[in-house]
Amino acid sequence: MFDLTGKVALVTGGNGGIGLGIARGLARSGAAVAVAGRNVEKNTAAVAELAALGVRAIPLVVDVTEPAQIERMVADTVGQLGSVDVLVANAGMNIRKMPQDYLVEEWHQIVDTNLTSVFQCCQAVYPEMKRRGGGKIITIGSMTSIFGFNVAPVYAATKGAVVQLTRSLASSWAADNIQVNSILPGWIDTDLTRRAGQVVSTLNDNVLARTPAGRWGQPDDLAGLAIFFAAPASDFVTGTAVPVDGSFSSSMF
Ligand code: NDP
Repeated sequence: MFDLTGKVALVTGGNGGIGLGIARGLARSGAAVAVAGRNVEKNTAAVAELAALGVRAIPLVVDVTEPAQIERMVADTVGQLGSVDVLVANAGMNIRKMPQDYLVEEWHQIVDTNLTSVFQCCQAVYPEMKRRGGGKIITIGSMTSIFGFNVAPVYAATKGAVVQLTRSLASSWAADNIQVNSILPGWIDTDLTRRAGQVVSTLNDNVLARTPAGRWGQPDDLAGLAIFFAAPASDFVTGTAVPVDGSFSSSMF
């Protein structure tokens, strides 16, 4: 039920952080992995790490805010690895500031990266998944899919929208045997949150105090749910949004 041998997974932002944690999990379950990101060195290092697990892995230099590059990314994955059975639309970014301080260009940069690209990646893999009789799509939400965040209003808007998009795509494509589910990570130790910690000196203390599990999540903590959503075990599970958060979202304090 959890075996991914013979499957091909395409992970945007798979060269670091949460994306690489998920890619490692999918590879350990037997999937070949296409790693898509902008940074050539990070792509190369991630592919070497995945190949060492005994699976095929390829690097793809892609900026997901460029629709033509998304189309090429999917074509290259199919061309080099044979198919796309699993899409993990993980690439994302944030700009932290109060709402009154945003430039419209910053709004568009965040929306293009975190939301528009997710929709376009899903559109791009759909024909191949339909042709093969099914597929699995995993989107990445956030605690801000549930809660507001004073210094991340645009990020929160995109992450709320990603969950609603996930539900709609699940409904649209259920009859095509394509399951679409979202993972909602709590506070995970990655470059993204390390950068935030450099700006907000109290972040580490706040995360530890507010997370009942009493620790930061690690990228590998996301792997188990991602494997489930990628595997036959979840063939009748679609349109869900599941937190992986050490009880952050289920606790008052
Ligand atoms: P990182 O900053 O560590 O990684 C972000 C990844 O996205 C990198 O691999 C980066 O690759 C890629 N990326 C960013 N922009 C683009 C782009 N325009 N085109 C292609 N790739 C891009 O962040 P995380 O691992 O923490 O975040 C991964 C996802 O998880 C994001 O969607 C984030 O919002 C979400 N998330 C993270 C949480 C956390 O606590 N860390 C909590 C909740 C959600 P490259 O640099 O090569 O372009």
